[in-house]
Amino acid sequence: MKLPRGGAYLQPESVDVAVIGAGPGGLSAAIYAAKNGLKVRIFEKKSRIGFPTVCGELLPTEEEMKRLLPRADGIPELFDAAASAAVNKCRRIGVLSPLGGSWSLSFDAYILDRHRFESLLFEETRLLGVESTLGAPARLMLSGKKACVESPAGGAVEAEVVVAADGFPSRAAVEAGLPVREYLRPENLAACLQYRVAGAGVEEDMVEVYFSSRLAPGGYGWIIPKGNGEVNIGIGARKSALRGKAAVSKLLDSFVRERLGERYEPGKIVAKAADVLPVGGALRSTCNGRVLAVGDAAGMVMPTNGGGIPTALISGKIAGETAARHLGGGCALLEYERTWRRQIGEELENATKLRRIADRLMGSDRAVHWGFTFLGEKGVREVLTCKVPWTVSPLIKLV
Ligand SMILES: Cc1cc2nc3c(=O)[nH]c(=O)nc-3n(C[C@H](O)[C@H](O)[C@H](O)COP(=O)(O)OP(=O)(O)OC[C@H]3O[C@@H](n4cnc5c(N)ncnc54)[C@H](O)[C@@H]3O)c2cc1C
Repeated sequence: MKLPRGGAYLQPESVDVAVIGAGPGGLSAAIYAAKNGLKVRIFEKKSRIGFPTVCGELLPTEEEMKRLLPRADGIPELFDAAASAAVNKCRRIGVLSPLGGSWSLSFDAYILDRHRFESLLFEETRLLGVESTLGAPARLMLSGKKACVESPAGGAVEAEVVVAADGFPSRAAVEAGLPVREYLRPENLAACLQYRVAGAGVEEDMVEVYFSSRLAPGGYGWIIPKGNGEVNIGIGARKSALRGKAAVSKLLDSFVRERLGERYEPGKIVAKAADVLPVGGALRSTCNGRVLAVGDAAGMVMPTNGGGIPTALISGKIAGETAARHLGGGCALLEYERTWRRQIGEELENATKLRRIADRLMGSDRAVHWGFTFLGEKGVREVLTCKVPWTVSPLIKLV
């Protein structure tokens, strides 16, 4: 493909791997492709990596991750940057039911400065010789056997393998013909809105999650302490459950008033962030031709807890390594799909089915409360960490 540049026609540069999107998924893919000797270029539409931040910034520690995703490879090195980017560490999750029930679960998690976290990963790509084009949305173009990625910011490439890491909804996945229709359905979408509040005066070592059909229909609210009185406070509400309800911003304002006003010193909002998360499970297919989809672009958010950083890091690593093996003649690209399903597929599938079961209760606060009471502390922890409690396992086959 030839692209005009100042009147002349230039041949795009050839690379082994083009990565579209420099979030955790894309950066991880770039790192592992480059570590395996590939020539890589990243395209990112933001001009500052990881900024602005749209995230609760909670990342389970390595030890929790090993329990959460026990078949995932390379957890310790994937989480190298997390400790350096953490601004706080929490040891418990408090789960609050709509009728006032509460369960305190021990759970170790880093609370990140996500901008710093992604900047550290980006720095690692640079040290590995990965080139990057920042500041404009890139476009994937497929014609015949060729895959080209071009950005208005420059740096068009022809790539052997393209990693679609452009988050949700992924234009690159659409361009590649991946089956995105299902993850775009309203029942599979969570509208998220979050404030960062200073001076909230919360317990600094406990994350809190609240369930309420009034304040977070089809989802939940969270308070994540960042240390020094700062919190990320937000709600995720299912698009299908929002019909006829107040706008998400009104719901979050009520949530902040009720939760911070009632129990804590009312604080000051210093930042706002909004996005839509796919919570319908991973795409049926994440590989087509030369294109591999990772992280949110592939719908790999854990539907029972809304976490997507770990799966983005892991799927990115698998994509980078598979690209290297494929280009070395060692495997078909489709091996990517088999490998991530083997490592994290069961937990993503469990969480998707558990979410569907929970959907049947979520319309009624009483049902949610009794559901939690029935599960008890152990069961609640299992659901949040994508395990199927034995009391629920007969229902799993029905969804
Ligand atoms: C409010 C909220 C709170 C959350 N809290 C948590 C949490 O506490 N813990 C957790 O684990 N997960 C959380 N998540 C989910 C988590 O943020 C995502 O799952 C995670 O960021 C996925 O990483 P990714 O690399 O796949 O995609 P993203 O992080 O979305 O990265 C995609 C990148 O691609 C870039 N991009 C998009 N289009 C283009 C293009 N055309 N060209 C070039 N670049 C492009 C974007 O600018 C972005 O940098 C939260 C999500 C939301 C919305």
